[in-house]
Amino acid sequence: MSSNVSSRIQNMETSATLAMAAKARELKTQGIDIIGLSLGEPDFNIPDFIKEAAKKAIDENYSSYTAVDGYTELKVAIAHKFKRDNLLNYTPNQIVVSTGAKQSLYNVAMAVLNPGDEVILPAPYWVSYRDIVKLAEGVPVEVSTSIEADFKMTAAQLEQAITPKTKMLWFSSPCNPSGSFYHKSELEAIAEVLKAHPQIIVVSDEIYEHINFSNNGHCSIASIDSMYDRTVTVNGVSKAFAMTGWRIGYIGAPEWIAKACTKLQGQVTSGANSIAQRAVIEALMAPVERIQYMVDAFKNRRDLVLKLLGQIEGFKLNVPEGAFYVFPDISYYFGKTLKGMHITNASDFALFLLEHAQVATVSGEAFGDENCIRISYAASEEILAEAIHRISKAVS
Ligand code: PMP
Ligand code: GLU
Repeated sequence: MSSNVSSRIQNMETSATLAMAAKARELKTQGIDIIGLSLGEPDFNIPDFIKEAAKKAIDENYSSYTAVDGYTELKVAIAHKFKRDNLLNYTPNQIVVSTGAKQSLYNVAMAVLNPGDEVILPAPYWVSYRDIVKLAEGVPVEVSTSIEADFKMTAAQLEQAITPKTKMLWFSSPCNPSGSFYHKSELEAIAEVLKAHPQIIVVSDEIYEHINFSNNGHCSIASIDSMYDRTVTVNGVSKAFAMTGWRIGYIGAPEWIAKACTKLQGQVTSGANSIAQRAVIEALMAPVERIQYMVDAFKNRRDLVLKLLGQIEGFKLNVPEGAFYVFPDISYYFGKTLKGMHITNASDFALFLLEHAQVATVSGEAFGDENCIRISYAASEEILAEAIHRISKAVS
């Protein structure tokens, strides 16, 4: 039978981060010594106290379906976390627990967007935003930024991008892929612009909140007075607690959005994994100091990566203040031929690095920036030093 895949799926891009990770994995199984710096996944083990909580949940038979929007005890823990870390007062009926922040984001897009609604995505943006918006029949409107502006959208750029059809502003801070994060004053300027456009909902993806190396603390845009009633704050445990495979994400949102997400989730997944939910209660109730050792390690790695990449010709870098990525502009190599391979864009360059340095990275094209590549530094310092040595050798 000939394949007859829906146009919805045909029109979708495959996740570039996951595709590159799969390619690197496949080459590794063929015995090729690939260093994978393509996936945004902490390389730490899950802290023991969280593992213990999961084991206890199994022994205590937490094995039934949970409430669609999550265990009440977990929603209370999330409300506590929002208040403690973000100065946000959400009640449990404003919180929805999902199968990863990725599902949280999908739920919100499906719950809020109507066909043709425009969604402003400051670029570079995380790889899945554009396709999630398209699946919800929204129209992504990209706002380009530059490395000189630290990859951040200004209030003036936002103002220019707004039309009567704009329904959403959607961004991550700290940002995947650039590592930039919006300081409080910058968010206040954005909030000021939005005051004149009450129809716009903000999706603030704060999954890298704790991985912040700046002296300026993290600021949630919902904590700015005029923004609370129109912001969905998205978070999860994949990054800060190294729990990517446990698949727990959550939102704090106006109640009407939380209700709509729960309605959708009730028909699609029935709710998130029960054992993982119990473990996340412990993770969120613990003092944040318990994960500081991972943040410290990421900062040392960032400094190492910046130092070593900075010595390679043609790598233009800014200093990322959070997350665990660098996003160098490598457009210097466009039009050049390296080891017989003609480089015309960032995808060619990422492919060149895979073939000739045996280092997996991701082309910036997937993130809405054609001049850059993303390198994840969620790997040990030894591995990072070896990877950058290989890159340096390959391009010289
Ligand atoms: N948002 C951003 C910016 C991310 O980098 C990721 C990484 N996976 C997610 C959301 C989704 O996280 P998860 O589904 O693992 O909770
Ligand atoms: N967020 C990670 C990344 O950007 C994980 C991969 C994914 O979920 O796409 O690499």
